[in-house]
Amino acid sequence: MSNPSTLKGGSFIVNQEDVKNVFIPEQFSEEQLMISEMVKDFCEKEIHGLGIERVAGLDASKDMDVIKDIFAKASELGLCGVSINEEYGGMGLDFNTGIIFSEQIALGFSFATTIGAQTSIGSLPIVYYGTEEQKSKYLPGIASGELVAAYALTEPGAGSDANSGKTSAVLNTEGTHYIINGQKMWITNGGFADVFIVFARIDDDKNLSAFIVEKAFGGIDLGKEEKKLGIKASSTVQVFFNNCQVPVENLLAGRGEGFKIALNILNSGRIKLAAGSVGGTKYACTKSVEYATQRIQFGKPISDFGAIQQKLGQMATLAFAVESALYRTGYNIDQKYEEFRAAGQSFNDAKINSLREYAIECAILKVIGSEALAYATDEGIQVFGGMGYSMETGMEMGYRDGRITRIYEGTNEINRMLSVGELMKRAYQTKEIDLMSATKGVPLQMASAINPFNAKGYLAKETEIVENLKKLFLLVSAAAGRKLKLKLVDEQEIVMNLADILGQAYIAESALLRVKKLAAEGVSKEELEDKKAAVQLYIYEALAIARKSTEDAIASYAKGAEKFLTQRLADTLTLAYDVNPKDLRRKVAQAAIKKGAYPF
Ligand SMILES: Cc1cc2nc3c(=O)[nH]c(=O)nc-3n(C[C@H](O)[C@H](O)[C@H](O)COP(=O)(O)OP(=O)(O)OC[C@H]3O[C@@H](n4cnc5c(N)ncnc54)[C@H](O)[C@@H]3O)c2cc1C
Repeated sequence: MSNPSTLKGGSFIVNQEDVKNVFIPEQFSEEQLMISEMVKDFCEKEIHGLGIERVAGLDASKDMDVIKDIFAKASELGLCGVSINEEYGGMGLDFNTGIIFSEQIALGFSFATTIGAQTSIGSLPIVYYGTEEQKSKYLPGIASGELVAAYALTEPGAGSDANSGKTSAVLNTEGTHYIINGQKMWITNGGFADVFIVFARIDDDKNLSAFIVEKAFGGIDLGKEEKKLGIKASSTVQVFFNNCQVPVENLLAGRGEGFKIALNILNSGRIKLAAGSVGGTKYACTKSVEYATQRIQFGKPISDFGAIQQKLGQMATLAFAVESALYRTGYNIDQKYEEFRAAGQSFNDAKINSLREYAIECAILKVIGSEALAYATDEGIQVFGGMGYSMETGMEMGYRDGRITRIYEGTNEINRMLSVGELMKRAYQTKEIDLMSATKGVPLQMASAINPFNAKGYLAKETEIVENLKKLFLLVSAAAGRKLKLKLVDEQEIVMNLADILGQAYIAESALLRVKKLAAEGVSKEELEDKKAAVQLYIYEALAIARKSTEDAIASYAKGAEKFLTQRLADTLTLAYDVNPKDLRRKVAQAAIKKGAYPF
């Protein structure tokens, strides 16, 4: 195992993490590997076993019975209880093992969304915020799959601006029930859910409250199943509340606490979504390798062509890098939970606070993970050519299903802004992260000419480049902040540029630390060659993204001498990285071809 990280959430941007403190997937325990295999087997047998064409053709409005059937089989295996403690009939997995589950269940296509709503957003509000009575009443049924759970936050007029919802909750004159009225939209599992976590406003409260609402309470009508681009075999409906009577004891966490619950639960949803994206990206890579090695054109397998190897190498690299950040963060969340528990926090508080600690990393992972999946599923179709466009191979389904990941759990625009906004809050409001001192040092460090080409040692050059990415973020955010002051938040394009630099720094650093840790633990350099190539390729790409984002940001707020000077400073931090991207992609692709699958 690794030592707990000594860094606070988000502070990776001003600190260097010790490799000893970084958890890497190569450290999974026997039990974790067993769970991973079990979930993979389940998807292969119960979902792929139906035939990919059948799964791709499932339309929830016509074939809900198939979904319920898969759900029942997952319940038998205990999969509905992955996030629930053993005392309530769940598996009591730690957070990082829950991430493994989310990665593997992605192989179930739409079903990942169905069970995701059950094990994450639909049940975690009770797991993390429920009273003992609420937990005992609802969690055993959710863990066994007897109760299907859903999460009802979004409304026709309240999507990204979730706290603006109009659904109302009024206490009856006897003081025994809240009467809920309103309309929710896009509710996953809504078509067959028994328990809804419903967000509604009590009177004129500033913030929403959250309620556990049973379908059996009555006053609930469902809309028709939505016809969607993807995840067709998942239920998504509108839910109408007409004088639905909810006992007062079903209020979660207290009046006005709902919006906070929604935000905190989304931290967990985001990292789990990133896990699913990693699973999907690896799957697209494996399927592409399998096809490319057997499809013959011009007398040879298409995997022999550089244009195809470029795609395979890139897919594998993206999955490797995001995966590194994913399990690093998941482990940190577990460690923070232990730390908070040891300091005397309750189970609920320690869970919520450990997730909140890593809100920045969760948002970064959601954005970069979902965009990696978009790349892999899109280029996966390209590798398959015409067959990729056919329902027969599953690639078109992966492409359609993957698209939702950039929209739900907070759109990628909202998550980009959140990552930067939260960092600024921790730096300048709560003063948890000393961004100011770190920023002050940047021009001086640049004056002492940090030149990655001079660095000596294993991956030393790459270490300098990753540190330069962090300095780039500090330089551009400080320069833009000085110029625009509070107006910066309204210049969203610049904030998104900053989010891209911040995100790339974290993912690149995580991949780098993974390989450095393996080397430090004695894995031979020869054995690490392919992983090293993936790290170098990721850093090469991250640098290109950061360079472009920097140029965009500077050109968006500065002109004349100011623009010229800031850009010159930035240039010293983004010197060309002396690697051959073509050879690196080929090397990673060759590793995948040799293995006949995602190589790492
Ligand atoms: C298949 C599916 C399943 C879903 N499941 C659930 C569920 O189970 N429970 C639930 O509660 N919800 C669910 N949702 C809803 C989902 O979370 C929302 O669709 C999402 O949060 C975006 O809200 P919206 O659709 O209203 O888009 P909008 O908020 O209208 O956004 C439209 C566009 O404007 C951008 N935008 C919005 N605000 C800003 C801003 N301040 N600055 C910059 N850009 C902005 C967005 O990024 C986006 O590009 C689901 C949605 C789908 C499609």
